Amino acid sequence: MSESGTHPPDGSQSGGQELNCEESLARVYEYLDGELDTGEHDAVRLHLEKCRRCYPHFDFERLFLDYVHELGSEQEARPGLKDRVLEMLEAETR
Ligand SMILES: [Zn+2]
Repeated sequence: MSESGTHPPDGSQSGGQELNCEESLARVYEYLDGELDTGEHDAVRLHLEKCRRCYPHFDFERLFLDYVHELGSEQEARPGLKDRVLEMLEAETR
């Protein structure tokens, strides 16, 4: 149907915090910054571990954040890291 990135609920999981793709990706920056409380942090991590659709996004965000971090802490980013980020950016916009 649509490609909005959300799973239809399958009803097989009950209790706990089950995040869908949208919710997980919305929290990815806070997750990477360690700003979520323990429950939310775990919920995001669990989702990313088992969701094949989100994982590439997560990997991309993390790589990008590493890159930004690198720029912030040192004046020069490691060339290899920059190349990888640019590669992924290109792949992402294709
Ligand atoms: Zn997902």
